[in-house]
Amino acid sequence: MRKFQSYTVESYLTYLRSIKITREIKDIHLHHTWKPTKKSYQLASNKEQVIYGMWRYHTETLGWQDIGQHVTVSPDGLIWDGRDVNQMPASITGHNQKAFAIEMIGNFDKGQETFEGVQYEAMVKLVRGLFTIFKTKNLIFHREHSSKTCPGSSLDKVLLLNRIQNKIEILGKAVATHGQMKQYLLSINASPKINCSVDALINYYLEEGNIEGVRGDIAFAQALKETGFFRYGGIVTPEQNNYAGLGALNGNKKGEGASFPTPRIGVRAHIQHLKGYATKVALKQPVVDPRYVVLQNAGLLGTAPTVTDLNGKWAVPGTGYGESILKILEKILSMPATGNDNIIGNTALLEEAKRLKDKISTLELELDKYKGLLNDILNQIKEM
Ligand SMILES: [Zn+2]
Repeated sequence: MRKFQSYTVESYLTYLRSIKITREIKDIHLHHTWKPTKKSYQLASNKEQVIYGMWRYHTETLGWQDIGQHVTVSPDGLIWDGRDVNQMPASITGHNQKAFAIEMIGNFDKGQETFEGVQYEAMVKLVRGLFTIFKTKNLIFHREHSSKTCPGSSLDKVLLLNRIQNKIEILGKAVATHGQMKQYLLSINASPKINCSVDALINYYLEEGNIEGVRGDIAFAQALKETGFFRYGGIVTPEQNNYAGLGALNGNKKGEGASFPTPRIGVRAHIQHLKGYATKVALKQPVVDPRYVVLQNAGLLGTAPTVTDLNGKWAVPGTGYGESILKILEKILSMPATGNDNIIGNTALLEEAKRLKDKISTLELELDKYKGLLNDILNQIKEM
């Protein structure tokens, strides 16, 4: 019986680096199996049988020499081997010469199964590794050369490539939850030097981020990097409420660089500075970032829309600067997210509740006034 072996992504890439590659590989092809489905794999007691079933279909029914794909990424995040990498795959007719073929188990058409979790992470790491090993950036979806929807109509190639190439946009909504951000910080430093509670600081990041359309989780990850998980020790001191080294240049003395009156204003300045790099779109709130005007005058507004674009700009020389922020972000996202830990905008909601209460009291006073007027009129009617 044809045997198949499963690997973790790391061990598969190690294996691939250890063998001699005798053909040129430039195109990474991506497919979903459609059938078998994710569910059928998850229910199977013998997972290898699922791969074996594909082999039987490819060889016995379709008459191919072997299973079509080089690897299969299963819902449990494993990489199953397949056709010899040094053999052309049976992947996309007319485009197999330089191809490496990946099948992902599942039906990822919209409304069917969801491509997510460990399977998504495994695929991202696998393609990232293949790009490095084969010195290429060609990711090809089956549907680019076919009328099929493969690898599934729910998959967006641009978003996927951005993720694979670590091109994460600074603008957008936070993905990490409040709880994930808190857990990760406290797992590294149990007593961070912050002039407010950890919860309040995280709320400021999420709220101020929402106001300006900047990802608060990315800004928070950057603050963890810049402050050494709020241990400080560099030029900036905890009293400054300066979470991103604003105005602190190499060679400055301790305590130099910008200071902010409160943690919220410190966060606001950080968010504004990030927004300045990410876009030319004007700020929503009055400028508190003393360096915003510097970006403006240097023509730097909007020159770094992604996190890795900050390399050589926010940080000089900055090699690997954005990547290290993204690594922190991935660690944050790997923390367990509980159902009710996402309290984005809690203080904003409290402020809104207060505003509405004030409005209600005003309206109640007005209502009383009109009730009085009405009564007066009714009394006049009686008297007439
Ligand atoms: Zn396909």
